[in-house]
Amino acid sequence: MSGGIVYLVGAGPGDPGLITRRGAEVLGRADVVFYDRLVHPDLLKLAPRARLVDVGKRPGESGPGQERINDLLVGEARAGRIVVRLKGGDPFVFGRGGEEAELLVAHGVTFEIVPGVTSAIAGPAYAGIPLTHREHASWAVLATGHEDPTKADSALDWPAIARAPTAVFLMGIERLATICDKLQAEGKPADTPAAVVSSATWPHQSVVRSTLEKIADAVAAAEIAPPAVLVVGGTVALGDQLDWFARRPLAGKRVFVTRTRAQTGRLSELLREAGAEPLEFPAIRIDPLSSADYEQLDDALAHLGSHAWVVFSSTNAVDAVWERLTGAGRDTRSFADVKVAAVGSATADTLRAHGLVPDLVPSTFTTQGLAAALGPPGAGGRHVLLPRAADAPDDLPRILSENGWECVCVPAYRTVVDHSSVSAGRDALRVGVDAALFTSGSTVRSFVDVWGPPPGECIVCCIGPQTAAAAAELGVRVDALAVESTIEGLVAALVAAVGR
Ligand code: SAH
Repeated sequence: MSGGIVYLVGAGPGDPGLITRRGAEVLGRADVVFYDRLVHPDLLKLAPRARLVDVGKRPGESGPGQERINDLLVGEARAGRIVVRLKGGDPFVFGRGGEEAELLVAHGVTFEIVPGVTSAIAGPAYAGIPLTHREHASWAVLATGHEDPTKADSALDWPAIARAPTAVFLMGIERLATICDKLQAEGKPADTPAAVVSSATWPHQSVVRSTLEKIADAVAAAEIAPPAVLVVGGTVALGDQLDWFARRPLAGKRVFVTRTRAQTGRLSELLREAGAEPLEFPAIRIDPLSSADYEQLDDALAHLGSHAWVVFSSTNAVDAVWERLTGAGRDTRSFADVKVAAVGSATADTLRAHGLVPDLVPSTFTTQGLAAALGPPGAGGRHVLLPRAADAPDDLPRILSENGWECVCVPAYRTVVDHSSVSAGRDALRVGVDAALFTSGSTVRSFVDVWGPPPGECIVCCIGPQTAAAAAELGVRVDALAVESTIEGLVAALVAAVGR
């Protein structure tokens, strides 16, 4: 047999951070990945070389069936491929991983198991519920809720489960009421704390906390959907104190983010850290100019020394200039005879990454802040080069001219509406969003163009006064403004607004 192998990998319960390092490593090497429906899409990005095959069952559908999955695994491994079978939670906890492994043995296929974080433990953990505790529980049981407790020959030892200080049921939502009745019939007190954690570790995780007697009604009232785990026992009560997940400042908030695709990373990361679900639908995209339109920029870059200053007002401007500069075979030395200003710390960082330390970074990251910091022209001359978006507004050149500067505005890139995310964004708005974040006037303009004004109940948050002014001009109500015009400041402003 050729060198094929199957890795049965636990994907964890949802949160893509909960995959193991070993799991991520084998995904990176995989030729083909067979994944379950409940696997987070970000995990599939860890397998850039692989063919991705969805073998998950959807509610009401049978999916490819276990036999077919088995055939696929064996076939791919026999063809010499590195196969990952990516399964929700842990592969050996109610995931039929044991059956898949047995089958691989029967066919002489080499395999390895990469354990995962099971929902049976992570679900309660994300609701602040320890399974064991020195004072409350020295043992715990883990059971399937799929079994009909009323049938005579149940595979479960109900009296033992009822005695366990902590009992965790998977796949139990459909039979929740019968499970709880059965536990009470076996002597478990009706007032035993019980909780149901659904979509555990996902941004939309929800928890219903009650007692054994009342949990089924409470879950029905809350319209909880599977997947969910049921936990019964004394430690469930600790969740009131230990509920760290729901206490994060933006827990469960759906936040619409409208930066360009290339820039959303950092913002989404900060939002996730605070517990929010970032919905990235970049209304705009940065595009290069058509080649004829670079004439002014190329000319200016060839004569940088004839300007007193070059002002970069965004990372996009820095990126576009570098693209053009290096394309012409030049580098940082072209800036030897000109001073460089950067508006905003991200812009300054991008310049530094190119080996250019800005001479000036105004402490207030606005047009006015820059004009004040630059002061009037001095001995170095009065020409200021402004590489910027083709359709940029004229506030900066106007204010600088009032101070005696002569502005040379050259187009360096274009911002265009990104149609690829338009319909996905519309769907997200239909489901409902709690906040929308704007990082420039153009993001507000394109949002309104594409999706109309943000819905009334949604918190509108702007990175700075200019963005807020652009919003006001479009009749968009602004609920929160960043004190410091940075991505961090923007998220802080949203946290403050949510707290109000
Ligand atoms: N191998 C998986 C379990 C597969 S059985 C594991 O170790 O987690 C499927 C059951 O797992 C579901 O019915 C539900 O009870 C539970 N489950 C899986 N993901 C879950 C999640 N994110 N939140 C709550 N329960 C989950």
